[in-house]
Amino acid sequence: MDNIKTDVEIEILRENALLVSRTLAEVAKHIRQGVSTLQLDRVAEQFIRDHGADPGFLGYRGFPNTLCISVNDAVVHGVPSDYCLREGDIVSVDCGTRKNGFYGDSAYTFAVGRISPEAEMLLKVTKESLFKGIAQAVHGNRMGDISNAIQTHVERSGYSVVREMVGHAIGRKMHERPDVPNHGRRGQGPKLLSGMVICIEPMINMGREDIYCHRNDKWTVRTVDGSLSAHYELTVAVGRDRADVLSTFEFVEEVLNNRNLE
Ligand code: MG
Ligand code: MG
Repeated sequence: MDNIKTDVEIEILRENALLVSRTLAEVAKHIRQGVSTLQLDRVAEQFIRDHGADPGFLGYRGFPNTLCISVNDAVVHGVPSDYCLREGDIVSVDCGTRKNGFYGDSAYTFAVGRISPEAEMLLKVTKESLFKGIAQAVHGNRMGDISNAIQTHVERSGYSVVREMVGHAIGRKMHERPDVPNHGRRGQGPKLLSGMVICIEPMINMGREDIYCHRNDKWTVRTVDGSLSAHYELTVAVGRDRADVLSTFEFVEEVLNNRNLE
């Protein structure tokens, strides 16, 4: 009922979480103007298979690819295509793995070359909000403590939290209960218990919160007002005193920092 994982299960989830983190770092090496989102998808699929795992999204409810790649006003679930990235784009890359019967799931929003200061700020605040949420993933807190920490930080900057899409627990299934909303009230919602493993994933719009699903591919979720949207996701095990963060942005950011030195 409470969806508590054993220590052994948490280690398998950690293995998946780290593989997803390394896959996103591999993708980071290839993000530049002119690369197609399908090329990025191939890089990720090869990397995951080379590490003895399967892509977690491929075939999931019929999803056709390894990565969800959502550019600019696309919020989530973008389908890789022959679209070539342009200078100034922001591109959210969401990646899943499956190994030893468990899933990994993590996302990062990248800048393509130089982006506007406004876009830069959206990425910064969205990522910060994720870590504010993670800080609340402690035994005895409520889910609403995570949700409220994210919402408060985001709305303070004038951005909107996407309501319809939420984070989730993860395990032998990609999406398990309970949900992890990015908006809510402190002290409300399910109690957080040590050993719960959840994906916290704020999806934040620069403009209004409203979204719609694109008719052409039946997957891509976009902002109604066309404003930019950012998405960061990490997997954490709720701990006694603090969250145990199973995935990491360290590998991605190492790649990005080295590229800035080029
Ligand atoms: Mg994800
Ligand atoms: Mg997720």
